[in-house]
Amino acid sequence: MSRTELKTVLSPDELPRNYYNILHDLPEPLPPPLDPGTLKPMSPEPLLRLFARECVMQEVSTQEFIPIPEEVREAYLRLGRPTPLYRARRLEEKLQTPAKIFFKREDLNPAGSHKPNTAIPQAYYHRKEGTARLTTETGAGQWGTALALASALFDIDLTVYMTRSSYEQKPYRRTLMEVYGAEVFASPSRRTKAGSKFLDKDPSHPGSLGIAISEAIEDCVTHDDTKYSLGSVLNHVLTHQSVVGQEAKVQMQQFDADPDYIVGCIGGGSNFAGLSYPFMRDKLRGKSGAQFVAAEPKAVPSTTKGSYRYDFADTGETTPLLKMFTVGHAYQCPPIHAGGLRYHGKAPSMCMLIDKGYMRSVAYSQNEVMEAGLTFAQTEGIVAAPESNHAVKATIDLALECKRKGEAKTILFNLSGHGLLDLKAYEDKLGGRLVDYEPDQAALSASMSAVPRVG
Ligand SMILES: *Cc1c(COP(=O)(O)O)cnc(C)c1O
Repeated sequence: MSRTELKTVLSPDELPRNYYNILHDLPEPLPPPLDPGTLKPMSPEPLLRLFARECVMQEVSTQEFIPIPEEVREAYLRLGRPTPLYRARRLEEKLQTPAKIFFKREDLNPAGSHKPNTAIPQAYYHRKEGTARLTTETGAGQWGTALALASALFDIDLTVYMTRSSYEQKPYRRTLMEVYGAEVFASPSRRTKAGSKFLDKDPSHPGSLGIAISEAIEDCVTHDDTKYSLGSVLNHVLTHQSVVGQEAKVQMQQFDADPDYIVGCIGGGSNFAGLSYPFMRDKLRGKSGAQFVAAEPKAVPSTTKGSYRYDFADTGETTPLLKMFTVGHAYQCPPIHAGGLRYHGKAPSMCMLIDKGYMRSVAYSQNEVMEAGLTFAQTEGIVAAPESNHAVKATIDLALECKRKGEAKTILFNLSGHGLLDLKAYEDKLGGRLVDYEPDQAALSASMSAVPRVG
């Protein structure tokens, strides 16, 4: 261990040996996924056509700890795990807050976000099970980048469906995936029936994560040697991300600090689950009074304005239905810069924890969020991803509340990624060109009307 007032760094042997699975500790069993045809609870068997067998086992497992394979630990080491945990002293000074602010750095690996934490084990399990090719979708491109990197490390071919708006706005993300050897198509595409359906209606359709999921799944099930990989929302993905929080727990102890607030941004919920669930484990056992704060965009307000209901995970209505907070799978996510947060639903385990009051959520406009990003860059020197700036904004709000109340609380947030390929968001903020979006009740009712009435 090396320790200063500013950061802690773990040694390679302190890399976690197990994943932590919150399904072991939830207050109730998760409501089962429903079959998209019959709307009845389904067995996990059909998932084997899509996902790695090991991932399907983990998806339904209630085993508390799941061993991390040695090859996966090696790949984590190669890509910079364990990651450092920093104290944001200059941000504290700027805010003149008595609060102590800490953040976990998931931005430092070659893909630039937390997503390799699950891309690596998924690629490894697929390789071990003999998969030749993977398909996936990507919104802003971080997931596609992470899986392209992991597929390169484990010698698997990868096809990525990237939402057309990002494909055009973020050409360097596409290039990065291609550098790692992946093939990348703008979605909706003519390569699938699902994509063609949307292109027929609108030849310049901007696409959405939900549509890209439908395309990647169709490409998978129509090709024998091909399987599929998902970067968020599902239990096994959140379980893989638990390396973040397990490391952070040890590191906070090294700082002699115990977080009063644990903060993160939520798109599907995986990075925040990764940081928070190892701490939530203590709370669920009555051993911690920490508060958990999840930040989402006002433009896609799943947990702050949506309903806790069964809904499809994709726009094309092909996936099982999951019980989650949703704004409806037909919701047209506005084109905000935080592309990783443009998803209609959230992870079922996190939604249960929010519904039962173990976690709360807040929502911000993109101007508020990018303003916080500028403050963070100008104090701590780090250009955070627009997604991560939701966590920065929530942290700043909590720190200012501490200032008003004169409370020296400890705040820990997840820096889920860097923003060096998102400079357009910063450029638009600096140029006063950022548009704020917020759905009204009519828009939400319209998208919710497509959600089946079950559960
Ligand atoms: C994908 C992404 C997110 C949102 O996804 P979660 O599953 O909620 O973590 C947040 N931050 C960054 C940097 C991302 O790439």
